[in-house]
Amino acid sequence: MSVDENTPILRSCIKLPLATDELLEVTAKAKDYAIMHGAAMRSKTSFSPDSLNFAPFVLVPSAFPRKEFEKAIALQPIINRLMHNVAHDEEFITTTLAETIKVDEFTANLFKIYRKVLAHGFTQRISLGMLRSDLMLESGCPELSPLLHHLADTTKSATTAPVPVPVAVPVPACAPVPAAGGGGDDDDVDEQAALGKVEEAATAFKVGVVRTISKSSAYCCWKQVEINTIASGFGHLGPASKTIQSFVLRELGHAEKLKHMPKNDALAGLCDGMVKAWDIYGKPESVILFIIEDISYNICDQRFHEFYIRETYPHIKVLRRTLTEVHREGKLGQRKELLLGTTEVAVIYFRAGYEPGHYPTQGEWDARYLMETSLAIKCPSIQYHLAGTKKVQQALAQPAVLERFINDPEEIKAVGKIFTGLYSLDDNEVGNANYEMALRTPERFVLKPQREGGGNNVYGMDIPDALKRMTRVERSAWILMDLIHPPLTQGYMVRPGSDMPPQIMDMVSELGIFGVVIGDADNIVHNYQAGHMLRTKLSTANEGGVAAGLGALDSPYLIDSEDEDASN
Ligand code: ADP
Ligand code: MG
Repeated sequence: MSVDENTPILRSCIKLPLATDELLEVTAKAKDYAIMHGAAMRSKTSFSPDSLNFAPFVLVPSAFPRKEFEKAIALQPIINRLMHNVAHDEEFITTTLAETIKVDEFTANLFKIYRKVLAHGFTQRISLGMLRSDLMLESGCPELSPLLHHLADTTKSATTAPVPVPVAVPVPACAPVPAAGGGGDDDDVDEQAALGKVEEAATAFKVGVVRTISKSSAYCCWKQVEINTIASGFGHLGPASKTIQSFVLRELGHAEKLKHMPKNDALAGLCDGMVKAWDIYGKPESVILFIIEDISYNICDQRFHEFYIRETYPHIKVLRRTLTEVHREGKLGQRKELLLGTTEVAVIYFRAGYEPGHYPTQGEWDARYLMETSLAIKCPSIQYHLAGTKKVQQALAQPAVLERFINDPEEIKAVGKIFTGLYSLDDNEVGNANYEMALRTPERFVLKPQREGGGNNVYGMDIPDALKRMTRVERSAWILMDLIHPPLTQGYMVRPGSDMPPQIMDMVSELGIFGVVIGDADNIVHNYQAGHMLRTKLSTANEGGVAAGLGALDSPYLIDSEDEDASN
C-alpha cells in the first residue's frame, strides 16, 4: 500500500533508536523468549512437525490511543449482539447474499447448506459465536488537516524529504461518502464542510503557512476493517505478544511502562466460551472438536487453546480432525448427535472451513453438512459463517439497516460510526454507479471478494483492471470499501532469518477485539468482550497476515495523548 508522506506518526513508547549493542542483545533474547513462550509458528519454507520458528514480532509495543481502545472494548458486546441478530435473520441473509451466490461458488455452497438446514429445522438452536472485530485508526480525516500535520512532526522529517509535495486531497474517511446508495452515518459530519476543510488545509499548505497542529490529531476515530465469525485467530498469540514485549521493556529498564499495556485474557475468554457451550450441551462424556487444516502452520494458536482447556477443565477432552477425517469417521446417532467412532461431540470449533481450498472434494462439503445438521454446538454455525461475509458487512453499513438489529438509538449511532464507506457492486443502478466511481478514483478503495484468510483483496490502482476483467454479474461477488489510512508507528520488526540488528521501520497496526456470544434465535445467554490482539505490518504492505508472513505480533501501548514524552 502506498503511504503518503503526510501520514502522521504516533510516538514510540520508548526513545528509539536503541544503541546497536543493546539492540542486538535484547533482540536475540527476545527471539528465544518468543519461542520458549509459544509465540511461534511452523515454518512454511522448511516445514517440520517437530520444530517451531518464532512468529514475527515488533520489539516494543506500538502506541494506541487509550480512548479509542476503550471505545472498541466497550462496543464489542453490542457488536456481538448485532452479529447474533444478523445470523438469525433469515430474510436479511437471503436477500443480502442473493446476487453474490449467483456468481460466487464458495458462498453459494455455504448458502446451500444453510437452506438445507433451514428446511429440516435446526437440530441445535444454540450457536457459539467467537468473533473478532478488526479495526484501524483513521488518520485521513479532513478535520485533522493531515497535510499540515506532517510539517509539525519533527520525527518524520528526519527520515523523509524535508519539503513534502502536496498530494491528492484525502477523502474524508470519518464521514463516509454516501455514494450512489452507499453507506454512512449521515447525521454525523457535514460532508461538504469536511471537504471544504481539506481544501482549506491544502491551500494553506501551498502558500507555505505552517500552523502548529496539536500532536493529538494523528487520528480522529477508528474504522472497522472486517468482522470475523469463523476461525478468529490470535487468542493465544495476542496475549503472548504482550508477554514478549513486557519482557523486552523490562530488559531495557522500562518496567514502569508495563502499566500502559492493557490486560489481555483472550485465550481464557475464548476457551471459557467453548466450555460454556460444552456445559450447555450437558453430556459429561462428550468432547470439544477442533476442525483443522491438513497442516496447521499457526499451531501454537490452536494447541494453546487445547492445552488451556485440558489444564483448566481436565474432564473435557479435545479432539482435532480435518474435514476429510470427519467425512471418513463422522456419523449421526439416534438423537442426531455427532459421533466420531463412539465419541460424542458437544462443541465444534472451526479453525478451517473458511476457504475453498479446505474443501478439495465433495466429501469435505458433506462433512460440513453433517456437522451443521447435528446436535453439536457449532462455532460458527452456518448462519454465523454467512453473517461474517464481506457482503453482509457492506449491507450493514447502509443507512437505516442497523435499526433492524439494534433497538437503542445510541447504540445504533455508535455502531454506525465504525463503518467506513462500503459499496455494493451488484448489477443494478447503485452497483453500476459504484463501479464507475471505482474506475474514476481507484486510489480511494480496496476491492474485496467473499473470502477470508488474507491475500484476496485488490488495492488502489490495481482495481480498474481487476474490475474490467469481470462481467457485470461477476462483480456482485465483490464489495468496494474506502481505504482506511492508519497513522504510522516506528519500531523494530523482528522476523526469523532476517538481518541483525533489525532496522527501524514505518509500520501500521490493526487491532482486533474478541467477543463471545452464545444463544439461540430468541435468547442470548452469554455475551462478553474477550480480549484483543494487535497485528502490525510494514506501512508499504497491503495486508498484514502474520501466518501469511507479512505482519508481526504486537500489542497496544495505551497513550492518553501523543504529547507523552517518549523518554519517560
Ligand atoms: P481477510 O478476511 O482476508 O482477513 P480483510 O478484510 O481483513 O480480509 O483484509 C485483509 C487485510 O487488508 C486487512 O488485515 C488490512 O491489513 C487490509 N485492509 C482491508 N480492508 C482495508 C481498508 N478498508 N483499508 C485499509 N486496509 C485494509
Ligand atoms: Mg482480516
